[in-house]
Amino acid sequence: MSYNQKMYGLGSRRSIIREIFEYSKTRGLEIGADKVFDFSLGNPSVPAPKEVNETIERLLRTEDSVLLHGYTSAQGDLRVRTAIAENINRRFGQSLTPNHIYMTCGAAASLSICLRALFEESGEECIVFAPFFTEYRVFVENAGGTLVASLPDSDLQIDLADFEEKISACTKAVILNSPNNPSGVVYPADKIAAVAEILTKKSKEYGHDIYLIADEPYRELVYGELDVPYLMNYYPNTLVCYSYSKSLSLPGERIGYIAVNPAMNDAANIYLAVCGAGRSLGYVCAPSLMQQVILHCLDAKVNIEAYRENRDLLYNSLTAYGYDCVKPDGAFYLFVKVPAGDAYAFYERAKAHEILVVPCDDFGVTGYVRIAYCVDKKRVENSLPAFAALAKEYSL
Ligand code: PLP
Repeated sequence: MSYNQKMYGLGSRRSIIREIFEYSKTRGLEIGADKVFDFSLGNPSVPAPKEVNETIERLLRTEDSVLLHGYTSAQGDLRVRTAIAENINRRFGQSLTPNHIYMTCGAAASLSICLRALFEESGEECIVFAPFFTEYRVFVENAGGTLVASLPDSDLQIDLADFEEKISACTKAVILNSPNNPSGVVYPADKIAAVAEILTKKSKEYGHDIYLIADEPYRELVYGELDVPYLMNYYPNTLVCYSYSKSLSLPGERIGYIAVNPAMNDAANIYLAVCGAGRSLGYVCAPSLMQQVILHCLDAKVNIEAYRENRDLLYNSLTAYGYDCVKPDGAFYLFVKVPAGDAYAFYERAKAHEILVVPCDDFGVTGYVRIAYCVDKKRVENSLPAFAALAKEYSL
């Protein structure tokens, strides 16, 4: 066989989420799409803010078409990077310049680039906090690293003792995702400060930098007056992977960025390593039109009211039926502890009620399913009798 077997493996084994999504479409044709309660995919269900579409139309009408669709600098248009740096500085009291920003095709590209920029020798490890976005394993291994999962406490928060125990001389980086996919948990400032303290201590102990990678596609999706700590403000060796996929409901447009903390040891060289990793992976010149859209829509916001309503309805109903779940403060997922502990068995039994949820054993914790509630409210309402019937089956 003359092709890469690891890549073949990745391509030929579809993710469970995609499998379920495909099943949902087929099942919808059989019984009617409105009878299938598909909660599998994290695809935003609220439209992009109107400024986004208006800006696209205006740019197409008024800008030079060759320039608008042309290549930008590999790291992104200077005006766009300047505006993003200023926006971060204003919001989080930072001092970034455009030479700390690298435009990307979303958080997936941002993470792949950061990991490629940092990992050097085989055997280096990346710690992720469980439950975690399953693609982390793919990105870490593709950069030559090994993924190590730190297990959560019973509230799905960071377990600091477990985290400290997982750090070794091989630890190169830590990915922290808050608000979290799949749990919806937001890690509070005291946890972040403690993580930073442990990382500082361990970097000294092992005599090398350990980097913190903030994965932030859900930063703006928070319910209530909750603060999502900005990790650069807690730990100097931080890279932020941001994406507009969820914050502006633009997942198909593939736009985001990496921000390198200017306070980092060797920040200028790390930025160059980011540029080099982007180059080596072919992630140069993020979509030009979308870069311009971001320039003009930095303060635009999606209306998250529909997500909040779905969260409240689902959480209140499911807990009333006897299900066990942590109330999510952000993102658009509800993470449910399955009654008899077997997530795949629960998935199958839910499927018999036309409810499609994601069994999460691959997310680093066993015995949970994820419900993506970024769907029409009607789907949530119509699904409730089925959730109630399923609870009865489990004698909840
Ligand atoms: N990180 C997390 C935690 C996600 O949930 C996702 C997408 O769902 C990504 C990264 C990738 O996002 P993007 O669409 O910006 O590549």
